[in-house]
Amino acid sequence: MKTVCVFCGSSPGARDIYRVSARRLAAGLVERNIGIVYGGGRAGLMGELAASALEAGGRVTGVIPEHLVKERSVQPGLTALHVVADMHVRKKMMADLADGFIALPGGYGTLEEMLEALSWAELGLHCKPCGLLDVAGFYQPFLEFLDDAVAEGFLRPESRNLLCVKCSPDELIEALCSYRPGIIEKH
Ligand code: AMP
Repeated sequence: MKTVCVFCGSSPGARDIYRVSARRLAAGLVERNIGIVYGGGRAGLMGELAASALEAGGRVTGVIPEHLVKERSVQPGLTALHVVADMHVRKKMMADLADGFIALPGGYGTLEEMLEALSWAELGLHCKPCGLLDVAGFYQPFLEFLDDAVAEGFLRPESRNLLCVKCSPDELIEALCSYRPGIIEKH
């Protein structure tokens, strides 16, 4: 895996552990010479991730839609910045530039982006690994929801298993690096 797309909150979260985890993930990616593609912002966990990866000498590419570019909204010093027309172009570009996806804690934006990556994997539109960093149990209710969706017959177990979940950034990176895609028949 040469480049990973990271989705994460534009808010910092209520507890320090979220910012610490964003920094640890950045450090783990830089150590392994894995570049980061992300939303380009400087706010919240997005800024924390990008700033600490850049400080450590990593490669960080931002992809941001025009309407989100405001004074001081973009992370300074990015290795590359793509300003694109809208959110759809942005997500396509982020996906095309990356070999895998990671979601840190976040809100609607983070969930929407990760769920699109998963849904596209399920449909066979890409075979890139999708990983969730479950910081301090933040994603447990979401994972329970996914298990319920399997039990209720809306999500196939193979599709559920497309999401790799770890609590430690290093374990998550290693799991994504050793991912071998299976074949899913979705009718
Ligand atoms: P959220 O989880 O709702 O805070 O949204 C974060 C995700 O949505 C990020 O992964 C970004 O791709 C996108 N996003 C939301 N707000 C911004 C922002 N102010 N600047 C750049 N990207 C953003």
